[in-house]
Amino acid sequence: MPDNPYLLLTPGPLTTSQTVKLAMMKDWCTWDDDYNNLVQNIRQKLVQLATKSPEKYSTVLMQGSGTFSVEAVIGTTIPKDGKLLVLVNGAYGRRIADIANKLAINTTVLDRGEILPPDLDRLDKTLETDQDITHVAVVHCETTTGMLNPIEKISEIIKKHHRIFILDAMSSFGGVEMDIDELQVDYLISSANKCIQGVPGFGFIIAKIREIEKCSKNARSLSLDLYDQWKVMESNNGKWRFTSPTHVVHAFYQALEELEEEGGIKFRAKRYAENQRTLVEGMKKLHFKPLLPEADQSPIITPFYYPDHKDFDFRLFYSKMKDKGFVIYPGKVTHLNTFRIGNIGDVHATDVENLLASIKQSCYWGIGKDQAYLLYK
Ligand SMILES: *Cc1c(COP(=O)(O)O)cnc(C)c1O
Repeated sequence: MPDNPYLLLTPGPLTTSQTVKLAMMKDWCTWDDDYNNLVQNIRQKLVQLATKSPEKYSTVLMQGSGTFSVEAVIGTTIPKDGKLLVLVNGAYGRRIADIANKLAINTTVLDRGEILPPDLDRLDKTLETDQDITHVAVVHCETTTGMLNPIEKISEIIKKHHRIFILDAMSSFGGVEMDIDELQVDYLISSANKCIQGVPGFGFIIAKIREIEKCSKNARSLSLDLYDQWKVMESNNGKWRFTSPTHVVHAFYQALEELEEEGGIKFRAKRYAENQRTLVEGMKKLHFKPLLPEADQSPIITPFYYPDHKDFDFRLFYSKMKDKGFVIYPGKVTHLNTFRIGNIGDVHATDVENLLASIKQSCYWGIGKDQAYLLYK
């Protein structure tokens, strides 16, 4: 199999191993017991990765990109007379609110802009005063900035007020240690092509059984009916309602085995954190400034300010890096000039060191009199 021309230093789709890609080189029947057993195995493994109390949770796999799974949760778990509160501090929190608006769900947003953590006092007061709110949705790692939101504290407030807790852990699950039962998460959402290191094609929801059982009458869509999808998977030994992405599912199974071989989430999280630390230390030496204070920064993806120089051109920088074998990512913060570098996927400390050497080689930039300058080679 040919090597990839470059590493994807992006938050997903990301760099996968050769063996994950190879797992897709066969055609599979969805009707077959072998396939359904594989699906059941995946569902079980995901619950076990999420918590030490697996008996309380059940996994639903859902076709589509991660957003389809978010939409399935929002559209199925909130009853017709329910109300959603969304904590927004970036594009993915905003997207949850957009989904709820599109589905005509009664929704309140606590918007903090794009670079600040959620306002916990306001969350507490809002839940105190607005008794109509039934559900609260939060993004764990806000991939816009790589900010890791403080979900322990958020969960405490949500549960003090007895509301349902929906967690978009799309870009963190598998790369950051957590126990969703201890965190009292009712629905966790993630997808195949993030920290589990599979390829894109489906998402998954790890749902508290006691809660999803109550959701049979809520769905606002047929194909994104999370309850029906769950019921059919539960009662038909892993059967999907509609055509499933069989190749992607096989690749995902392989990716789960490789996660186990790595030593589980604890060791993967360590590798990502090391990638991130190496990256930031190296970039600082090259005079690049990270966007976030260290305390807010996740090990998943890191934004940097553009160098303060009139000749800096992100597109040129991007294509230089791509020629050298590294695909980096544009920024997503609206009013600031930033770019991002992902730390996740089949990427290791030596890759990060090679990236840093390439940046140094292709754009030497130093500090002049009062001014930074940059030269492309
Ligand atoms: C990747 C991601 C999603 C889903 O995006 P898709 O493009 O639909 O896969 C949702 N939330 C967060 C935080 C993400 O990082």
